[in-house]
Amino acid sequence: MTSNPSVTGAPVGVRPAVRAVPAYPFTPIQVPIKLDQNENPYDFPAELKAKAAERMLAQPWNRYPDLHADTLAARIAKYEDWDADGVVVTPGSNVLIKLLTELAGIEQTVLTVDPTFSVYTLEAKMLGARLVQVPLNEDFSMPVDRLKIELQRQRPGVLYITQPHAPTGHVDDLAAVRELLEAAGEWVVVLDEAYYQYSGTDCRDLVRQYPNALSLRTFSKAWGLAGLRAGYALAGADLATQLQKLVPAFNVSILIQSALEVALENPGYVQERVAEAVAERGRVLAALEDHPTCQAMPSRANFFLLRTPDAEVAYRHLIDHGIVTRRQDRLTGLEGCLRVGIGTPAENDALIEAVRALK
Ligand SMILES: *Cc1c(COP(=O)(O)O)cnc(C)c1O
Repeated sequence: MTSNPSVTGAPVGVRPAVRAVPAYPFTPIQVPIKLDQNENPYDFPAELKAKAAERMLAQPWNRYPDLHADTLAARIAKYEDWDADGVVVTPGSNVLIKLLTELAGIEQTVLTVDPTFSVYTLEAKMLGARLVQVPLNEDFSMPVDRLKIELQRQRPGVLYITQPHAPTGHVDDLAAVRELLEAAGEWVVVLDEAYYQYSGTDCRDLVRQYPNALSLRTFSKAWGLAGLRAGYALAGADLATQLQKLVPAFNVSILIQSALEVALENPGYVQERVAEAVAERGRVLAALEDHPTCQAMPSRANFFLLRTPDAEVAYRHLIDHGIVTRRQDRLTGLEGCLRVGIGTPAENDALIEAVRALK
């Protein structure tokens, strides 16, 4: 049989739930200032990169890595003051979100707020979980009472909470998070802490107290290693063991493990950059405070929402000024909003100037 180069029509056998989800809507735009993916504006320090490369060269590339990245997991455990049996490492925490949805969402429920991080809802839809979303309060705080009602009403599954929240940058009181954990019963509760370094918050103590809770953390943001692809879950040993079953064997390459070991041995650079980003966040928000038509919303993360009179016009205007941001205006309650990352001081200067020129 020869293959037909112009196959048309729907491929046979694809589950309708997968077909129904649009391909991930991200189109790279080539402009000098990239504030659209909440990345660290600075690369991994050059001297650490050189060390990592050296360590990569010292590895045997013909051998499989540890089955579950056990050595790396132990290093992360030490860094996080966590039991190594409770650390699960994958190529990015997005992978963990898929696996957690497999663990507790399929044929059960995925509960989250609205708006929320798109990966939670995409995976729920594709994996055939029942998706329930509760609108955020107007001030972007968690709708604790309504979430508690759904925790009672729905068949258990997985609850996704993001602290700081994405894309608003809002942080809730730990008491609110605890109230949900108290109410969660048999639900798995995922506390996605992708940006915790920028908020100075930490849910680890809560995770220690609730065996159904876990914290997701990533090397993609404060560590400045989004290109490497690595994230991890911190959980109790029982929950981690169940989650680990779903992780494909050998899923973190020996090269990535080498680089992450070097990062974990030299974490000082992270603190410096986070301090700069936090100071810059304050500076940018203050500089835009008296804007006649745009509202820069307070945030505890390395990004903030900019509410504009017309998101399409504002987005184009910023691109014309060499700055790419992320449109969020189609999300519930975020009419007119762009999500803007905190860049280097020079990039932020350019942003402030461009936003000020926006009518
Ligand atoms: C960026 C981000 C992550 C990190 O994803 P990786 O796959 O680890 O790069 C996780 N959760 C949220 C809410 C994020 O914004």
